[in-house]
Amino acid sequence: MTAVPDQGTPTWAKAPSPKPRDLAPTHPTNGLFIGGEFVDPADGGSFTTVEPATGERLAEVALATTPDVDRAVKAARRAFRRWSSRPAAERGRYLFRIARIIQERSRELAVLESIDNGKPIRETRDVDLPLVAAHFFHHAGWADKLAWAGLGPNPRPLGVAGQIIPWNFPLLMLSWKIAPALACGNTVVLKPAETTPLTALAFAEICQQADLPAGVVNIVTGAGDTGRALVEHPGVDKIAFTGSTEVGKAIARAVAGTAKKLTLELGGKAANVVFDDAPVDEAVEGIVNGIFFNQGHVCCAGSRLLVQESVHDPVVARLQRRLGTLRLGDPLDKNTDIGAVNSAEQLERITELVAAGEAEGAVPWQPDCRLPERGWWHAPTIFTGVAQSHRVAREEIFGPVLSVLTFRTPDEAVAKANNTTYGLSAGVWTEKGSRILWMAERLRAGVVWANTFNRFDPASPFGGYKESGFGREGGRQGLASYLDAGAVG
Ligand code: NAP
Ligand code: MG
Repeated sequence: MTAVPDQGTPTWAKAPSPKPRDLAPTHPTNGLFIGGEFVDPADGGSFTTVEPATGERLAEVALATTPDVDRAVKAARRAFRRWSSRPAAERGRYLFRIARIIQERSRELAVLESIDNGKPIRETRDVDLPLVAAHFFHHAGWADKLAWAGLGPNPRPLGVAGQIIPWNFPLLMLSWKIAPALACGNTVVLKPAETTPLTALAFAEICQQADLPAGVVNIVTGAGDTGRALVEHPGVDKIAFTGSTEVGKAIARAVAGTAKKLTLELGGKAANVVFDDAPVDEAVEGIVNGIFFNQGHVCCAGSRLLVQESVHDPVVARLQRRLGTLRLGDPLDKNTDIGAVNSAEQLERITELVAAGEAEGAVPWQPDCRLPERGWWHAPTIFTGVAQSHRVAREEIFGPVLSVLTFRTPDEAVAKANNTTYGLSAGVWTEKGSRILWMAERLRAGVVWANTFNRFDPASPFGGYKESGFGREGGRQGLASYLDAGAVG
């Protein structure tokens, strides 16, 4: 008898097909974008942004301190009066123009995002950039229809919005912040994350290219202190923050007692619930997408798999086989599924939590996966035998690490899914529509995906419960966050 080859192991290898990085030339030094121009920071300071896949230096970026933030807020304030009193259709045209330029420059922006962040080009090209453009198109359409958004007959903008974003989806988070703010007639000062400033600066160039009036968009690069200066600036009318729950709480304390409006999009520890009647292959794809998309650096990642006890073993076996086919490596290779971890600090946090999982008795598993020698990488990891009390079941790991728990009944699934301080998203996998609705009613999560995961659309509001924050981005609800509640009545 001849031996049958193992069907689960590919016997061929794909040829590498890297994108030429010349598509996205980086400037050696980068100024702040204030009042429509790139300017030097007041004290001449700068910091380095590096390429996570190699650890090599990419560019020097201006470090904004309090006087620079002040200058940016004043530029935004000066621009606000004219911008908010322009005909709304004109604001829509600017947003439409920006969306078109983003589409035209999308290859360059996708490469730049992959280089600065470490995420695979397949994702920046097929997910991030199309969604970025979609957000600007969507909000371009809203600009002159705000009176029909069901938010009152004469909704008015708030003024100057201070916006702070994280490193996991740099340009996408920028679009979630800037597009609705501008559509509603506000002007903005945005601070990107320290490790991923480059696409925000490319966006500043796009604002120039679109002839956006000076001061409507201002970009101040820097680290946490720059963000703090923006939060504390008395000339800011609204703070929109996306990031960790810890910093979100500090910001909530800082704006308490002021007239500033606040929305917080914070962390998550989402349950992805698989019932025994779910189609297993589709569920496995959804589990993989839920936790290994963007190296698991996703606030709404399905990081807790709740699988019905009777199907635990076959689901885990198929999941392991599927993980064996994921390719980890060069983010600019379009065959890559898993790219680099964004920073040494983030890798340290993931490694520390994985060690804690092992120490507490959960059982780790990783596919055979060689990590590149340079840069920051973490192999996809699954923990089975996880108890609800384990740190890997409670804390946001923000990396490619899945914790598997089991349940027997739908009630137990709901209880376990809701047993978290977070409440951003959840997934349900079952053949029964009635069960999906039953679960969706009971899950305390801002988004519940049914037989899919990690789907985003500018028309669909996104946001959390509990320590995942408050306020919504996207949809009509997202517009409400940038309009004066007094005026919208
Ligand atoms: P982070 O440390 O909270 O940073 C987020 C942003 O805040 C960065 O621009 C950061 O600057 C800045 N910042 C830091 N300290 C600040 C302070 N005291 N005042 C004002 N700004 C400050 O979060 P991260 O680790 O970069 O991002 C990961 C977290 O974001 C995760 O918890 C994830 O779940 C969450 N997230 C949530 C959503 C959502 O929509 N709910 C989306 C994406 C990510 P530097 O980075 O330059 O220090
Ligand atoms: Mg970087």
